[in-house]
Amino acid sequence: MSDALISLKNVCVHIGSKVALHDVNLAISAGEIVTIVGPNGSGKSTLLRTLVNAIKPTGGQITRKPDLRIGYVPQKLHIDPTLPLTVRRFLSLPSRVNDAVAEKALDDAGAGDLSKRQMTDLSGGQFQRVLLARALLNNPHILILDEATQGLDQPGSADFYAQIAQVRQNFGCAVLMVSHELHVVMAASDRVICLNGHICCEGAPETVASAPEYRALFGYGTHGALALYRHQHTHTHDENCAHDHDHAQSHDHTPKASL
Ligand code: ADP
Ligand code: MG
Repeated sequence: MSDALISLKNVCVHIGSKVALHDVNLAISAGEIVTIVGPNGSGKSTLLRTLVNAIKPTGGQITRKPDLRIGYVPQKLHIDPTLPLTVRRFLSLPSRVNDAVAEKALDDAGAGDLSKRQMTDLSGGQFQRVLLARALLNNPHILILDEATQGLDQPGSADFYAQIAQVRQNFGCAVLMVSHELHVVMAASDRVICLNGHICCEGAPETVASAPEYRALFGYGTHGALALYRHQHTHTHDENCAHDHDHAQSHDHTPKASL
């Protein structure tokens, strides 16, 4: 696809003697929101790290648009708790950025007031926003996020995704994310890719949700967790009122851990 920001053709990645990814074909277009879902160890992080050029594929081809700017929020970033490091200084690692650029990125990430704070004092949600700010420093064409809301509670995670939506609107960038939160996938993605070493199925969220490959991979029956996504919140919840089965099941049961 010539208009793709980035595309993979038959990409394989071996880690040691293990095949982490094989025959992955994928193209991301400008402005689209793509979510990758898959069980633990299915190669999601490996795929993202391959896209950002942190891992070289052992086979296949990667084509990036010339001068493509990528903003990457990794799954884990460990900061030594004994190291004094302000948010502002963190943004200048590894390459120095000026105050105006740093401030704009923090504002865009919803972290405008955190500049002087110590990295180790931030809450989970604040930390993720700072990582987001760092990913925005180079005004990316595509933002790549690896389980960015892992460890956040449900409202914190919803806030973070709202911030991503805002960023996408401001920057007009594509967003590629790995998420375990299927309700977000269903609501906010243009396309879902289901990965298990290779791409099992992909398409519009509704299409993937009903694909046999997807259901087999995640063990969902007809009345399983996926039923939640078709649930409409047209009613109010009264604590004294007995819910019927569907309502009781859908209330606050975000199937985060089930992937
Ligand atoms: P996911 O993000 O979907 O949980 P990963 O991409 O992290 O999966 O891992 C894919 C596979 O590659 C797993 O089997 C994992 O054990 C293996 N793997 C990933 N990184 C390494 C590494 N640095 N050393 C050895 N094996 C790795
Ligand atoms: Mg991972």
